[in-house]
Amino acid sequence: MTLGHQSGTDKPKDECGVFGIYAPGTNVARLTYYGLYALQHRGQESAGIAVADGDRIQLSKAMGLVPEVFSADTIDNLSGDLAIGHVRYSTTGSSSPLNAQPLVFRYTGGQLGLAHNGNLTNVTELRSQLLSTGSIFQSSTDSEVVVNLIARYSQSTLEEAVMKTMIDIKGAYSLVLLTEDKLIAVRDPYGFRPLCIGSLGNGYVVASESCALDTVGAKFLRDVEPGEIVTIDSTGLKSAHVLPAKCRAHCIFEYIYVARPDSTIDNYNVNRVRRKLGHQLAAEFPVDADLVIPVPDSGTASARGYAEATGIPFEEGLMKNRYIGRTFIQPSQDMRDLAVRLKLNPVREVLEGKRVVMVDDSIVRGTTSGKLVAMLHDCGVKEVHMCLSSPPVIRSCYYGIDTSDEKELIAANMQLDEIRQSIGADSLHYLSLEGLLDIFDDYRDNFCTACFSGIYPVEVVKPKDTGKYSLE
Ligand code: SF4
Repeated sequence: MTLGHQSGTDKPKDECGVFGIYAPGTNVARLTYYGLYALQHRGQESAGIAVADGDRIQLSKAMGLVPEVFSADTIDNLSGDLAIGHVRYSTTGSSSPLNAQPLVFRYTGGQLGLAHNGNLTNVTELRSQLLSTGSIFQSSTDSEVVVNLIARYSQSTLEEAVMKTMIDIKGAYSLVLLTEDKLIAVRDPYGFRPLCIGSLGNGYVVASESCALDTVGAKFLRDVEPGEIVTIDSTGLKSAHVLPAKCRAHCIFEYIYVARPDSTIDNYNVNRVRRKLGHQLAAEFPVDADLVIPVPDSGTASARGYAEATGIPFEEGLMKNRYIGRTFIQPSQDMRDLAVRLKLNPVREVLEGKRVVMVDDSIVRGTTSGKLVAMLHDCGVKEVHMCLSSPPVIRSCYYGIDTSDEKELIAANMQLDEIRQSIGADSLHYLSLEGLLDIFDDYRDNFCTACFSGIYPVEVVKPKDTGKYSLE
Protein backbone atom coordinates (compact mmCIF):
# COMPACT_ATOMS: atom_id res chain seq x y z
CA MET A 1 0.00 0.00 0.00
CA THR A 2 1.23 3.46 -0.75
CA LEU A 3 0.56 6.60 1.17
CA GLY A 4 -2.98 7.66 0.46
CA HIS A 5 -3.23 11.34 -0.17
CA GLN A 6 -4.20 13.39 -3.15
CA SER A 7 -2.65 16.72 -3.93
CA GLY A 8 -3.16 18.95 -0.95
CA THR A 9 -5.68 16.67 0.75
CA ASP A 10 -5.73 13.77 3.15
CA LYS A 11 -8.21 11.43 1.56
CA PRO A 12 -8.13 7.82 0.54
CA LYS A 13 -7.04 7.61 -3.06
CA ASP A 14 -9.82 6.42 -5.27
CA GLU A 15 -9.71 3.15 -7.06
CA CYS A 16 -10.78 2.38 -10.63
CA GLY A 17 -13.81 2.84 -12.82
CA VAL A 18 -14.99 0.44 -15.51
CA PHE A 19 -17.40 0.92 -18.38
CA GLY A 20 -18.73 -1.39 -21.10
CA ILE A 21 -21.15 -0.96 -23.98
CA TYR A 22 -22.81 -3.22 -26.54
CA ALA A 23 -24.72 -0.96 -28.91
CA PRO A 24 -24.37 -1.68 -32.66
CA GLY A 25 -25.16 1.34 -34.77
CA THR A 26 -23.92 3.85 -32.20
CA ASN A 27 -20.49 5.44 -31.80
CA VAL A 28 -19.41 3.14 -28.98
CA ALA A 29 -15.93 4.68 -28.63
CA ARG A 30 -17.36 8.15 -28.09
CA LEU A 31 -19.96 6.88 -25.64
CA THR A 32 -17.22 5.04 -23.73
CA TYR A 33 -15.17 8.23 -23.66
CA TYR A 34 -18.11 10.10 -22.11
CA GLY A 35 -18.77 7.24 -19.71
CA LEU A 36 -15.16 7.34 -18.54
CA TYR A 37 -15.40 11.11 -18.16
CA ALA A 38 -18.29 10.52 -15.72
CA LEU A 39 -16.13 8.01 -13.82
CA GLN A 40 -12.98 10.17 -13.75
CA HIS A 41 -13.28 10.67 -9.96
CA ARG A 42 -12.52 6.94 -9.54
CA GLY A 43 -9.06 7.12 -11.11
CA GLN A 44 -6.88 9.84 -12.57
CA GLU A 45 -3.63 8.07 -13.43
CA SER A 46 -4.49 6.36 -16.70
CA ALA A 47 -7.38 5.76 -19.05
CA GLY A 48 -8.06 3.31 -21.85
CA ILE A 49 -10.69 2.18 -24.34
CA ALA A 50 -10.86 -1.12 -26.27
CA VAL A 51 -13.34 -1.39 -29.16
CA ALA A 52 -14.43 -4.56 -31.01
CA ASP A 53 -15.98 -4.67 -34.48
CA GLY A 54 -16.81 -8.36 -34.84
CA ASP A 55 -13.38 -9.27 -36.21
CA ARG A 56 -10.80 -7.59 -34.02
CA ILE A 57 -10.23 -5.51 -30.91
CA GLN A 58 -8.50 -2.11 -31.14
CA LEU A 59 -7.01 -0.52 -28.05
CA SER A 60 -5.99 2.98 -27.03
CA LYS A 61 -4.65 3.73 -23.53
CA ALA A 62 -2.12 5.98 -21.85
CA MET A 63 -1.24 7.72 -18.59
CA GLY A 64 -3.32 10.80 -17.85
CA LEU A 65 -6.85 12.06 -17.44
CA VAL A 66 -9.52 11.05 -19.95
CA PRO A 67 -9.35 14.30 -21.99
CA GLU A 68 -5.53 14.13 -22.01
CA VAL A 69 -5.41 10.52 -23.21
CA PHE A 70 -7.90 10.65 -26.09
CA SER A 71 -8.06 13.12 -28.99
CA ALA A 72 -11.11 13.34 -31.24
CA ASP A 73 -9.08 11.60 -33.96
CA THR A 74 -8.12 8.74 -31.66
CA ILE A 75 -11.73 8.19 -30.70
CA ASP A 76 -12.99 8.43 -34.29
CA ASN A 77 -10.46 5.80 -35.39
CA LEU A 78 -11.88 3.31 -32.88
CA SER A 79 -14.90 1.94 -34.70
CA GLY A 80 -17.04 -1.02 -33.73
CA ASP A 81 -20.19 -2.27 -32.08
CA LEU A 82 -18.97 -2.84 -28.54
CA ALA A 83 -16.35 -1.41 -26.22
CA ILE A 84 -14.93 -1.42 -22.72
CA GLY A 85 -13.11 1.38 -20.89
CA HIS A 86 -11.16 1.92 -17.70
CA VAL A 87 -9.89 4.75 -15.54
CA ARG A 88 -7.26 3.81 -13.05
CA TYR A 89 -5.63 4.77 -9.85
CA SER A 90 -3.08 2.13 -8.89
CA THR A 91 -4.04 0.18 -5.79
CA THR A 92 -2.09 -2.91 -6.87
CA GLY A 93 0.78 -2.48 -9.27
CA SER A 94 2.79 0.66 -9.70
CA SER A 95 1.84 3.76 -11.62
CA SER A 96 3.17 2.75 -15.03
CA PRO A 97 1.88 2.73 -18.63
CA LEU A 98 2.23 -1.07 -18.59
CA ASN A 99 -0.38 -1.24 -15.83
CA ALA A 100 -2.92 0.92 -17.68
CA GLN A 101 -6.09 -0.90 -18.69
CA PRO A 102 -7.96 -2.38 -20.50
CA LEU A 103 -5.59 -5.31 -20.97
CA VAL A 104 -6.04 -6.89 -24.40
CA PHE A 105 -4.49 -10.26 -25.22
CA ARG A 106 -4.76 -13.07 -27.70
CA TYR A 107 -5.48 -16.61 -26.58
CA THR A 108 -6.67 -19.78 -28.29
CA GLY A 109 -10.26 -18.52 -28.20
CA GLY A 110 -9.35 -15.29 -30.05
CA GLN A 111 -8.88 -11.79 -28.60
CA LEU A 112 -10.00 -10.76 -25.15
CA GLY A 113 -10.02 -7.39 -23.39
CA LEU A 114 -10.39 -6.91 -19.65
CA ALA A 115 -10.90 -3.97 -17.29
CA HIS A 116 -10.90 -4.51 -13.53
CA ASN A 117 -11.93 -2.56 -10.45
CA GLY A 118 -10.94 -4.01 -7.07
CA ASN A 119 -8.07 -5.94 -5.51
CA LEU A 120 -7.60 -9.69 -5.36
CA THR A 121 -6.48 -10.96 -1.96
CA ASN A 122 -4.81 -14.20 -3.12
CA VAL A 123 -2.89 -12.71 -6.01
CA THR A 124 0.60 -13.52 -4.66
CA GLU A 125 -0.19 -17.20 -4.40
CA LEU A 126 -1.91 -17.32 -7.80
CA ARG A 127 0.87 -15.41 -9.50
CA SER A 128 3.56 -17.78 -8.17
CA GLN A 129 1.51 -20.79 -9.25
CA LEU A 130 1.14 -19.34 -12.73
CA LEU A 131 4.83 -18.36 -12.96
CA SER A 132 5.91 -21.84 -11.89
CA THR A 133 3.94 -23.33 -14.75
CA GLY A 134 5.28 -21.04 -17.44
CA SER A 135 3.10 -17.93 -17.44
CA ILE A 136 4.74 -14.62 -18.31
CA PHE A 137 3.56 -11.29 -16.87
CA GLN A 138 3.96 -7.90 -18.52
CA SER A 139 2.53 -5.82 -15.70
CA SER A 140 2.39 -5.91 -11.91
CA THR A 141 -1.43 -5.75 -11.74
CA ASP A 142 -3.61 -8.44 -10.25
CA SER A 143 -5.79 -8.03 -13.35
CA GLU A 144 -3.15 -9.80 -15.45
CA VAL A 145 -3.49 -12.80 -13.14
CA VAL A 146 -7.20 -12.90 -14.04
CA VAL A 147 -6.35 -12.74 -17.73
CA ASN A 148 -3.84 -15.60 -17.39
CA LEU A 149 -6.33 -17.78 -15.55
CA ILE A 150 -9.01 -17.23 -18.18
CA ALA A 151 -6.49 -18.18 -20.88
CA ARG A 152 -5.58 -21.35 -18.92
CA TYR A 153 -9.19 -22.44 -19.06
CA SER A 154 -9.56 -21.67 -22.77
CA GLN A 155 -10.48 -25.24 -23.65
CA SER A 156 -13.89 -24.33 -22.18
CA THR A 157 -16.27 -21.68 -23.49
CA LEU A 158 -15.37 -18.16 -22.40
CA GLU A 159 -18.23 -18.09 -19.89
CA GLU A 160 -17.01 -21.39 -18.40
CA ALA A 161 -13.43 -20.09 -18.30
CA VAL A 162 -14.65 -17.00 -16.42
CA MET A 163 -16.63 -19.18 -14.00
CA LYS A 164 -13.58 -21.36 -13.28
CA THR A 165 -11.48 -18.23 -12.79
CA MET A 166 -14.02 -16.90 -10.30
CA ILE A 167 -13.56 -20.05 -8.25
CA ASP A 168 -9.78 -19.45 -8.14
CA ILE A 169 -9.68 -15.75 -7.37
CA LYS A 170 -10.53 -14.21 -4.01
CA GLY A 171 -11.20 -10.63 -3.00
CA ALA A 172 -12.83 -7.70 -4.73
CA TYR A 173 -13.49 -7.52 -8.44
CA SER A 174 -15.92 -5.89 -10.78
CA LEU A 175 -14.81 -6.86 -14.29
CA VAL A 176 -15.83 -5.99 -17.81
CA LEU A 177 -14.58 -8.29 -20.57
CA LEU A 178 -14.73 -7.90 -24.33
CA THR A 179 -14.31 -10.40 -27.16
CA GLU A 180 -14.63 -9.59 -30.85
CA ASP A 181 -18.42 -9.78 -30.52
CA LYS A 182 -19.40 -10.19 -26.88
CA LEU A 183 -19.43 -8.13 -23.68
CA ILE A 184 -19.23 -9.79 -20.26
CA ALA A 185 -19.70 -8.13 -16.86
CA VAL A 186 -18.74 -9.90 -13.62
CA ARG A 187 -19.10 -8.95 -9.96
CA ASP A 188 -17.38 -10.82 -7.15
CA PRO A 189 -19.53 -12.97 -4.82
CA TYR A 190 -19.39 -10.37 -2.03
CA GLY A 191 -20.25 -7.44 -4.30
CA PHE A 192 -17.45 -5.29 -2.86
CA ARG A 193 -17.20 -2.89 -5.76
CA PRO A 194 -20.27 -1.52 -7.54
CA LEU A 195 -21.35 -2.47 -11.06
CA CYS A 196 -24.67 -1.71 -12.75
CA ILE A 197 -26.45 -2.31 -16.07
CA GLY A 198 -28.48 0.04 -18.22
CA SER A 199 -30.24 -0.18 -21.57
CA LEU A 200 -29.46 2.07 -24.51
CA GLY A 201 -31.83 1.61 -27.47
CA ASN A 202 -31.49 -2.07 -28.35
CA GLY A 203 -28.14 -2.27 -26.60
CA TYR A 204 -26.75 -2.31 -23.09
CA VAL A 205 -24.28 -0.40 -20.98
CA VAL A 206 -22.47 -1.55 -17.82
CA ALA A 207 -20.61 0.81 -15.51
CA SER A 208 -19.09 1.15 -12.06
CA GLU A 209 -21.60 3.85 -11.20
CA SER A 210 -25.02 4.82 -12.46
CA CYS A 211 -23.83 8.41 -13.10
CA ALA A 212 -22.01 7.02 -16.17
CA LEU A 213 -25.25 5.46 -17.45
CA ASP A 214 -27.01 8.80 -17.04
CA THR A 215 -24.21 10.58 -18.87
CA VAL A 216 -24.50 8.44 -22.01
CA GLY A 217 -28.30 8.49 -21.96
CA ALA A 218 -28.72 4.87 -20.85
CA LYS A 219 -31.67 3.82 -18.69
CA PHE A 220 -30.67 2.20 -15.40
CA LEU A 221 -31.91 -1.42 -15.25
CA ARG A 222 -30.30 -2.92 -12.15
CA ASP A 223 -27.09 -3.64 -10.30
CA VAL A 224 -25.07 -6.68 -11.31
CA GLU A 225 -25.67 -9.17 -8.51
CA PRO A 226 -22.79 -10.40 -6.38
CA GLY A 227 -21.41 -13.57 -8.01
CA GLU A 228 -23.21 -12.91 -11.30
CA ILE A 229 -21.86 -13.13 -14.85
CA VAL A 230 -23.80 -11.07 -17.37
CA THR A 231 -23.18 -11.82 -21.06
CA ILE A 232 -24.36 -9.42 -23.75
CA ASP A 233 -24.19 -10.14 -27.49
CA SER A 234 -26.39 -10.15 -30.61
CA THR A 235 -28.75 -12.62 -28.92
CA GLY A 236 -29.40 -10.23 -26.01
CA LEU A 237 -28.53 -10.33 -22.31
CA LYS A 238 -27.96 -13.55 -20.38
CA SER A 239 -27.24 -13.98 -16.72
CA ALA A 240 -25.59 -16.76 -14.75
CA HIS A 241 -25.09 -16.86 -11.00
CA VAL A 242 -21.81 -18.57 -10.45
CA LEU A 243 -20.73 -18.45 -6.88
CA PRO A 244 -23.34 -18.03 -4.21
CA ALA A 245 -22.20 -15.30 -1.83
CA LYS A 246 -21.51 -16.35 1.75
CA CYS A 247 -22.62 -12.85 2.57
CA ARG A 248 -22.76 -9.54 0.79
CA ALA A 249 -20.03 -7.06 1.59
CA HIS A 250 -20.58 -3.90 -0.42
CA CYS A 251 -17.94 -1.28 0.34
CA ILE A 252 -19.57 1.21 2.68
CA PHE A 253 -16.85 3.76 1.91
CA GLU A 254 -18.33 4.13 -1.59
CA TYR A 255 -21.27 5.94 0.03
CA ILE A 256 -19.15 7.99 2.42
CA TYR A 257 -16.48 9.23 0.04
CA VAL A 258 -15.68 7.37 -3.19
CA ALA A 259 -18.79 7.44 -5.36
CA ARG A 260 -20.38 10.45 -7.01
CA PRO A 261 -23.41 11.77 -5.10
CA ASP A 262 -25.64 11.40 -8.17
CA SER A 263 -24.97 7.67 -8.36
CA THR A 264 -27.26 5.03 -6.93
CA ILE A 265 -25.49 1.88 -5.77
CA ASP A 266 -27.31 -1.27 -4.70
CA ASN A 267 -30.55 0.71 -4.38
CA TYR A 268 -29.14 3.52 -2.21
CA ASN A 269 -28.58 6.95 -3.70
CA VAL A 270 -25.21 8.27 -2.55
CA ASN A 271 -26.37 11.86 -1.99
CA ARG A 272 -29.34 10.68 0.06
CA VAL A 273 -27.12 8.44 2.18
CA ARG A 274 -24.69 11.31 2.83
CA ARG A 275 -27.55 13.60 3.81
CA LYS A 276 -28.79 10.98 6.28
CA LEU A 277 -25.28 10.60 7.66
CA GLY A 278 -25.49 14.31 8.48
CA HIS A 279 -28.86 13.78 10.23
CA GLN A 280 -27.40 10.92 12.21
CA LEU A 281 -24.31 12.91 13.11
CA ALA A 282 -26.54 15.72 14.40
CA ALA A 283 -28.54 13.24 16.49
CA GLU A 284 -25.36 11.84 18.03
CA PHE A 285 -23.52 15.15 18.45
CA PRO A 286 -25.78 18.23 18.56
CA VAL A 287 -23.22 21.04 18.88
CA ASP A 288 -24.20 24.57 19.92
CA ALA A 289 -22.83 26.62 17.00
CA ASP A 290 -23.58 29.51 14.60
CA LEU A 291 -22.74 27.90 11.26
CA VAL A 292 -22.34 24.51 9.60
CA ILE A 293 -19.73 24.42 6.83
CA PRO A 294 -18.65 21.46 4.69
CA VAL A 295 -15.19 20.44 3.60
CA PRO A 296 -16.11 20.32 -0.09
CA ASP A 297 -17.05 18.24 -1.95
CA SER A 298 -17.42 14.94 -0.16
CA GLY A 299 -18.49 16.61 3.12
CA THR A 300 -21.13 18.81 1.47
CA ALA A 301 -24.21 16.56 1.53
CA SER A 302 -23.57 15.48 5.14
CA ALA A 303 -23.05 19.10 6.21
CA ARG A 304 -26.42 19.98 4.66
CA GLY A 305 -27.94 17.04 6.52
CA TYR A 306 -26.40 18.23 9.79
CA ALA A 307 -27.72 21.75 9.20
CA GLU A 308 -31.21 20.44 8.33
CA ALA A 309 -31.37 18.36 11.48
CA THR A 310 -30.07 21.02 13.87
CA GLY A 311 -31.50 24.16 12.27
CA ILE A 312 -28.03 25.74 12.31
CA PRO A 313 -27.49 27.78 9.08
CA PHE A 314 -25.45 26.08 6.34
CA GLU A 315 -22.77 28.19 4.66
CA GLU A 316 -20.01 27.54 2.17
CA GLY A 317 -17.14 28.66 4.35
CA LEU A 318 -14.39 26.97 2.34
CA MET A 319 -14.04 27.57 -1.38
CA LYS A 320 -12.60 24.76 -3.45
CA ASN A 321 -10.33 25.37 -6.39
CA ARG A 322 -11.63 22.90 -8.96
CA TYR A 323 -8.68 23.23 -11.31
CA ILE A 324 -5.99 21.46 -9.33
CA GLY A 325 -5.24 18.44 -11.46
CA ARG A 326 -2.86 15.54 -11.56
CA THR A 327 0.01 17.60 -12.91
CA PHE A 328 -0.13 20.06 -9.99
CA ILE A 329 3.44 20.76 -8.80
CA GLN A 330 3.65 19.94 -5.09
CA PRO A 331 4.90 22.90 -3.04
CA SER A 332 8.30 22.46 -1.40
CA GLN A 333 8.63 21.62 2.30
CA ASP A 334 8.68 25.27 3.42
CA MET A 335 5.50 25.97 1.42
CA ARG A 336 3.53 22.97 2.66
CA ASP A 337 0.53 24.94 3.90
CA LEU A 338 0.15 26.27 0.39
CA ALA A 339 -0.95 22.85 -0.85
CA VAL A 340 -4.09 23.02 1.28
CA ARG A 341 -4.68 26.74 0.66
CA LEU A 342 -4.45 26.19 -3.09
CA LYS A 343 -7.20 23.65 -2.86
CA LEU A 344 -9.42 25.13 -0.13
CA ASN A 345 -9.58 28.79 0.84
CA PRO A 346 -11.67 30.05 3.78
CA VAL A 347 -14.20 32.86 3.30
CA ARG A 348 -13.34 35.31 6.09
CA GLU A 349 -16.55 37.32 5.65
CA VAL A 350 -18.63 34.22 6.34
CA LEU A 351 -16.55 32.83 9.17
CA GLU A 352 -15.16 35.65 11.32
CA GLY A 353 -16.35 35.64 14.93
CA LYS A 354 -18.48 32.50 14.45
CA ARG A 355 -18.68 29.17 16.25
CA VAL A 356 -18.41 26.71 13.37
CA VAL A 357 -19.28 23.05 12.86
CA MET A 358 -17.01 21.79 10.05
CA VAL A 359 -18.28 18.55 8.47
CA ASP A 360 -15.93 16.26 6.56
CA ASP A 361 -16.38 12.67 5.42
CA SER A 362 -13.32 11.15 7.09
CA ILE A 363 -9.89 11.77 8.53
CA VAL A 364 -7.18 9.45 7.25
CA ARG A 365 -3.79 10.77 8.40
CA GLY A 366 -5.00 13.99 9.99
CA THR A 367 -2.58 16.29 8.22
CA THR A 368 -5.12 18.29 6.22
CA SER A 369 -7.67 18.57 9.03
CA GLY A 370 -5.12 20.31 11.24
CA LYS A 371 -4.31 22.81 8.49
CA LEU A 372 -8.00 23.51 7.84
CA VAL A 373 -8.68 24.13 11.52
CA ALA A 374 -5.67 26.48 11.68
CA MET A 375 -6.92 28.35 8.60
CA LEU A 376 -10.33 28.83 10.23
CA HIS A 377 -8.72 30.16 13.42
CA ASP A 378 -6.62 32.55 11.30
CA CYS A 379 -9.90 33.90 9.91
CA GLY A 380 -11.11 34.77 13.38
CA VAL A 381 -13.38 31.74 13.89
CA LYS A 382 -14.22 31.51 17.62
CA GLU A 383 -14.72 27.74 17.88
CA VAL A 384 -14.17 24.89 15.43
CA HIS A 385 -16.15 21.70 16.01
CA MET A 386 -15.02 18.98 13.62
CA CYS A 387 -17.69 16.39 12.75
CA LEU A 388 -16.92 13.34 10.61
CA SER A 389 -19.63 11.49 8.74
CA SER A 390 -17.79 8.20 9.23
CA PRO A 391 -16.34 6.25 12.15
CA PRO A 392 -12.55 6.44 12.74
CA VAL A 393 -10.51 4.76 9.96
CA ILE A 394 -8.43 2.27 11.95
CA ARG A 395 -7.49 -0.40 9.41
CA SER A 396 -6.17 -0.52 5.85
CA CYS A 397 -8.33 -1.60 2.93
CA TYR A 398 -7.29 -4.64 0.90
CA TYR A 399 -10.24 -4.58 -1.45
CA GLY A 400 -9.40 -1.78 -3.85
CA ILE A 401 -9.24 1.53 -1.97
CA ASP A 402 -5.96 2.99 -0.81
CA THR A 403 -6.67 4.11 2.75
CA SER A 404 -2.95 4.29 3.69
CA ASP A 405 -0.79 1.97 5.71
CA GLU A 406 -2.03 1.37 9.23
CA LYS A 407 0.90 3.16 10.83
CA GLU A 408 -0.15 6.29 8.90
CA LEU A 409 -3.77 6.20 10.07
CA ILE A 410 -4.21 8.76 12.81
CA ALA A 411 -7.14 6.95 14.44
CA ALA A 412 -5.19 3.68 14.57
CA ASN A 413 -2.50 5.39 16.60
CA MET A 414 -4.19 8.03 18.78
CA GLN A 415 -7.13 8.30 21.15
CA LEU A 416 -10.00 10.65 20.31
CA ASP A 417 -8.78 13.52 22.48
CA GLU A 418 -5.22 13.18 21.19
CA ILE A 419 -6.54 13.51 17.64
CA ARG A 420 -8.61 16.54 18.65
CA GLN A 421 -5.55 18.17 20.16
CA SER A 422 -3.36 17.30 17.20
CA ILE A 423 -5.75 18.97 14.73
CA GLY A 424 -6.44 21.87 17.10
CA ALA A 425 -10.24 21.56 17.10
CA ASP A 426 -12.42 22.62 20.05
CA SER A 427 -14.31 19.35 19.77
CA LEU A 428 -14.11 16.30 17.51
CA HIS A 429 -16.93 13.87 16.75
CA TYR A 430 -16.93 10.72 14.65
CA LEU A 431 -20.19 9.11 13.57
CA SER A 432 -20.64 5.76 15.31
CA LEU A 433 -20.49 2.54 13.28
CA GLU A 434 -23.99 1.71 14.53
CA GLY A 435 -25.19 5.12 13.40
CA LEU A 436 -23.63 4.57 9.97
CA LEU A 437 -25.29 1.16 9.56
CA ASP A 438 -28.65 2.49 10.82
CA ILE A 439 -28.93 4.43 7.54
CA PHE A 440 -29.38 1.11 5.73
CA ASP A 441 -32.10 -0.31 8.03
CA ASP A 442 -32.66 -4.02 7.34
CA TYR A 443 -29.88 -4.09 4.73
CA ARG A 444 -27.28 -3.16 7.37
CA ASP A 445 -25.55 -6.57 7.42
CA ASN A 446 -24.62 -6.43 3.74
CA PHE A 447 -21.63 -4.10 3.94
CA CYS A 448 -17.89 -4.31 4.33
CA THR A 449 -16.86 -2.04 7.21
CA ALA A 450 -13.35 -3.44 7.65
CA CYS A 451 -11.50 -0.10 7.64
CA PHE A 452 -13.71 1.00 10.58
CA SER A 453 -14.34 -2.28 12.39
CA GLY A 454 -11.28 -4.41 11.56
CA ILE A 455 -13.64 -7.22 10.48
CA TYR A 456 -12.46 -8.34 7.04
CA PRO A 457 -15.11 -10.28 5.06
CA VAL A 458 -12.39 -11.99 3.00
CA GLU A 459 -9.49 -13.15 5.09
CA VAL A 460 -6.35 -11.07 5.44
CA VAL A 461 -3.47 -12.70 7.32
CA LYS A 462 -1.43 -10.77 9.89
CA PRO A 463 1.94 -12.49 10.39
CA LYS A 464 2.96 -12.62 14.04
CA ASP A 465 6.57 -11.61 13.43
CA THR A 466 6.19 -8.32 11.59
CA GLY A 467 2.82 -7.20 12.94
CA LYS A 468 2.08 -5.96 9.42
CA TYR A 469 -0.94 -7.14 7.51
CA SER A 470 -0.30 -8.98 4.32
CA LEU A 471 -2.51 -10.51 1.71
CA GLU A 472 -3.03 -14.21 1.82
FE1 SF4 B 1 -14.55 -0.26 1.59
FE2 SF4 B 1 -13.26 0.02 3.93
FE3 SF4 B 1 -14.17 -2.38 3.15
FE4 SF4 B 1 -12.13 -1.24 1.85
S1 SF4 B 1 -12.13 -1.94 3.98
S2 SF4 B 1 -13.90 -2.29 0.92
S3 SF4 B 1 -12.69 0.93 1.97
S4 SF4 B 1 -15.40 -0.55 3.65
